[in-house]
Amino acid sequence: MAVPWSRSAGPDRPGRNVSGLSKVLYPGSFDPLHNGHVEIIELSSRLFGDVTVAAMVNREKPGFFPLQERLALIEESVAHLPGVSVSAHEGLVVHVAQALGVDFVVKGLRATSDFEIEMQMAQMNKAVTGMETVFVPAGSAVGFLSSRWIREIAAEGGDVSALVPAPVARALKERYGA
Ligand code: ADP
Repeated sequence: MAVPWSRSAGPDRPGRNVSGLSKVLYPGSFDPLHNGHVEIIELSSRLFGDVTVAAMVNREKPGFFPLQERLALIEESVAHLPGVSVSAHEGLVVHVAQALGVDFVVKGLRATSDFEIEMQMAQMNKAVTGMETVFVPAGSAVGFLSSRWIREIAAEGGDVSALVPAPVARALKERYGA
């Protein structure tokens, strides 16, 4: 007999796309994009009608992948997802969210450490600008991923190809020859 929870999505049963009219911003450094980010973008694409993945740039910190390459890698990695666009922005996330006229900012949560800072930021943004934040939990298989560890492991010749989208794996390989 079917139990109610057996109706949810599973490996053999992809979740329905319920995207509506809402527009969201998913900000991050994505330096580089990894599979934890991709899961959040995939879910956002199913939930929301219009998803902007915003690579946030700090002029003083050029980052690991040059911006144009970082953007190209994100674009290639999410090209299969409907309603998703990619752009680069400077300054405060909340200002970008307002300028783009989004309904929500999406943030991924890995551990309680993410929760504490993100909760405070979400409440601050709401108090100052009225902008709402939606939290998406990290998938259990990717919740340990961070761009910093991807960079460090790849730099030491480790194989991270199972942890990042194929275009990113290729770019890391080109850089480190690993
Ligand atoms: P990282 O911490 O990997 O450098 P970013 O700063 O680019 O990543 O993070 C952008 C957004 O993605 C943030 O909301 C962050 O909480 C979320 N995020 C980062 N890593 C993961 C993960 N492994 N699973 C789910 N969400 C994640």
